[in-house]
Amino acid sequence: MLAGAVAAEEAGAAGADRLIALERDWDPEGRTADLAGLIATLAPRHVLFPETQTGGDLARRLAAASGEPLFPGAESISPQAVGRPAKGHRVEQRCRPPRLITIVADVVAAHGGRVHEARPLAAAAVPVRRAILSADVIPADPARVPLSEADFVLSAGNGVTDFASFHALAQALGATPGASRMVCDAGLMPRAAQVGASGTVLGATCYFALGIAGAPQHLQGIARVEHVVAVNTDLHAAMIERAGLAVVADAQKVMPALIAALEAEAAP
Ligand SMILES: Cc1cc2nc3c(=O)[nH]c(=O)nc-3n(C[C@H](O)[C@H](O)[C@H](O)COP(=O)(O)OP(=O)(O)OC[C@H]3O[C@@H](n4cnc5c(N)ncnc54)[C@H](O)[C@@H]3O)c2cc1C
Repeated sequence: MLAGAVAAEEAGAAGADRLIALERDWDPEGRTADLAGLIATLAPRHVLFPETQTGGDLARRLAAASGEPLFPGAESISPQAVGRPAKGHRVEQRCRPPRLITIVADVVAAHGGRVHEARPLAAAAVPVRRAILSADVIPADPARVPLSEADFVLSAGNGVTDFASFHALAQALGATPGASRMVCDAGLMPRAAQVGASGTVLGATCYFALGIAGAPQHLQGIARVEHVVAVNTDLHAAMIERAGLAVVADAQKVMPALIAALEAEAAP
């Protein structure tokens, strides 16, 4: 039996005969109570959780609430014993499988046998007093996201003089503003905005460099970035070479033109 938010075909392929939909992904207390109710009703011999952020958390909550022992991080499992490595993988701890077990991802082979029925069952309604009544995803303000967590960074170098347009463009693009060290040294952007070896090394997907030469210390900060767009008046700038899309032009002209294009696109 499988309990969780899984499609019936996937659950059947994973070897589940019955499937119970557990909603309330956002409500750990409610999920724990739902599961405790299910366990009380169905009295299963074993309850297996994935050792993931959500699965591991649920297993520990349930163990704490019920007082039952939990075997976390199992890497081998059979009806007779569960095992996991210990002491830096020098020994293996084994014991009879308790009821609650978490399994480390990707170490136990997936069910390879025939596809099971995965017939949906209604979960018993368990009344829960919840601290969290609802949860919504609130989009982060890109201007306030720390550079290290930003996905799209628009960065100003020494070739940028029009900072009003730079900030307007960052807002229009939904990008987090960054800068070269030259710009931060000049006090035109805060030190926290500095991209590079002595600033922040980005984990962004896209980096848009305006008037940045591409010194080695700066390029170290964008080594992991997949998509780089560069605007520079110098065709031979290292940043132009690093970029997947390069525009050889004056940044002061490109910025308002891009803002106008974005506004035109957004207009009904
Ligand atoms: C120990 C050490 C650590 C450092 N760490 C960092 C770091 O973490 N981050 C960092 O950024 N730097 C760092 N630096 C400094 C780095 O070596 C460079 O000096 C700096 O990155 C240059 O900044 P820049 O590209 O903005 O300026 P510049 O080198 O002056 O380049 C400006 C660029 O803008 C172009 N340009 C000019 N006018 C226009 C225009 N109108 N439109 C479009 N393009 C134009 C130019 O062609 C040029 O390519 C470090 C240096 C040292 C020694």
